[in-house]
Amino acid sequence: MKKENIVAKKKFGQNFLKDETVLQKIVQAMPKNDNKIVEIGPGLGDLTKFLVDVKSVEAFEVDTDLCKLLQNEFKVEIATKRLHINCGDVLRAWKSSLVDEPYDLVANLPYYIATNIILKALADPMCKNILVMVQLEVAEKFCADAGEKVFGSLGIITQSVGNAHIVVRVPPSAFEPPPKINSAVFLITKKRERPEKDFEDMLRLSFSQPRKTLMKNLSSKYEKSELLIAFEELSLIQTIRPHQVSTNDYHQLYKKII
Ligand code: SAM
Repeated sequence: MKKENIVAKKKFGQNFLKDETVLQKIVQAMPKNDNKIVEIGPGLGDLTKFLVDVKSVEAFEVDTDLCKLLQNEFKVEIATKRLHINCGDVLRAWKSSLVDEPYDLVANLPYYIATNIILKALADPMCKNILVMVQLEVAEKFCADAGEKVFGSLGIITQSVGNAHIVVRVPPSAFEPPPKINSAVFLITKKRERPEKDFEDMLRLSFSQPRKTLMKNLSSKYEKSELLIAFEELSLIQTIRPHQVSTNDYHQLYKKII
């Protein structure tokens, strides 16, 4: 099938990035290192074209029509091992690591599974950096800081692992077909491992009712008297809301109440 005959499939979250300026900004924001690049959802290969110019790429694409097209389009890069395409669902291919060497994830992600993919990449010891395009609201959650309304489990997990910032906001007109939402590219630089499950469970409980106080949310599971002591030691007022507490304080609180 020719490129011009491809019709975007909604079920695979296909919105192809066509804006050259944004594509260049993604490439410029890539961390400078020797890591391999993993691209999830190369689609029509517009970003892939830029990526294989810089480094070797391991790509995962679920749509068999697009796989065939990419295999044809990138014959030379595949023959010279600059590009390897895995045809199939990336979530099925993902064991504890997605590939067996250090890699940076660089992708315009399928939005319907973007958060799941980023959380898997945060837990993947081989993944060193994450540079991805997602829905703007999702990017803002991963990059949020304590005190911001959207600060929650995703921001705390990200800050526990490293740091994150938004590289560029992207309007619907940059895509074909244009999505109904705004998008953003953001970068997570990983420095530490993803926190243990019990810590993340405590976070989930902390934000179970985001408008209620942190004390109220936590006291559904933990002894109120112990919470009062821990809050006092950390100088947290009893009426503090979950989004107002810093990542460091969540870690301190965890040590005290678990
Ligand atoms: N990278 C291309 C671009 O920027 O134009 C396409 C991005 S499009 C938003 C998302 C891509 O992810 C599509 O090519 C889609 O087929 C692919 N995709 C969706 N679900 C997937 C999955 N579970 N595993 C691998 N690829 C997937």
